[in-house]
Amino acid sequence: MNLRRKSKPIQIGKVTVGGGAPIVVQSMTKTDTRDVMSTIAQIKELEDCGCELVRVAVPDIEAARAIRDIKRGVSIPVIADIHFDYRLALEALKAGCDGLRLNPGNIGEPEKVKAIAQAAKERNVPIRVGVNAGSLPRAANPKLTIARQMVDAALHQIHLLESLDFDLIKVSLKAFDVPTTIGAYQDIAQKIPYPLHIGITEAGPPRTGIIRSTVGISTLLYLGIGDTIRVSLTAHPREEVIAAYEILKSLNLRQHGPILVSCPSCGRAEVDIVKLAEAVEERLLKVDKPIKVAVMGCVVNGPGEAKDADIGIACGKGKAVLFKKGKKLRTIEERDFVTALMAEVERF
Ligand code: SF4
Repeated sequence: MNLRRKSKPIQIGKVTVGGGAPIVVQSMTKTDTRDVMSTIAQIKELEDCGCELVRVAVPDIEAARAIRDIKRGVSIPVIADIHFDYRLALEALKAGCDGLRLNPGNIGEPEKVKAIAQAAKERNVPIRVGVNAGSLPRAANPKLTIARQMVDAALHQIHLLESLDFDLIKVSLKAFDVPTTIGAYQDIAQKIPYPLHIGITEAGPPRTGIIRSTVGISTLLYLGIGDTIRVSLTAHPREEVIAAYEILKSLNLRQHGPILVSCPSCGRAEVDIVKLAEAVEERLLKVDKPIKVAVMGCVVNGPGEAKDADIGIACGKGKAVLFKKGKKLRTIEERDFVTALMAEVERF
């Protein structure tokens, strides 16, 4: 794996992004931001599964003002997502947002960006220049590749902010197409010092969206690129946070909660491993310690993997051997598989 690209750290509320800080997991609410109670409830669900930054859509002034009340009810920094109307950014800043996301394709004249930059600077609030392949600025050159157009759009906005003596910048360049996204990030990573928010936009429902996001995000992370990640899914945002941590854990970039090893099952299994692994996975969602748990179907790979885990079971017909740190603890009956395994996880 490549060394992580060095980036200039920024502070979004209490969370540091870039500068070698742990890669930050973020998500976005799917509630109506004006519905303060529902938005707080969803952010709390996200906090519970480890979300570290949250973005809320700001379609109008009422949503911008709601950020003040939302912030009173949550613990993680809140970023306002602004499109089209720069006055919404000004109002969100007044309401106490911790970060702004602007799309250079749709904010318009430099004077409007200037007004936002001044107000953000007074409050020490960073701005993400969030370019999206689906909403490139009208001035983009169609003869260039989409990746190049995205980079140019971001650089234009970055240079404008820099000319206003504003450097609390974070950048994203997202497309649905994975190679386009990777190419754009590789290009801009060499051209600017700012931290990068990475992700694949409109990646789809979980079954396909997690794969598409994982391919894009993991490739970039493996290349050392990326300071904060968001997995965009057509699903409850909790799924985005869970998937983001699984990506980071798979690359050994973050420790967060348990790692579940489970065999795929095959004709040798004499218990329903799919059902068992799903039950264990569900129970592990409530565990926050970094522990490796193995659920294995038979004696072929079962004892090896189960022994290698902190806690594991290797199943046979109606029974399983329970292991802890490589040592056999005891044999358990099928009806006790989940409870006995989870009791050892709790004790660990
Ligand atoms: S551990 Fe056993 S049951 Fe599971 S996939 Fe391997 S051979 Fe099949």
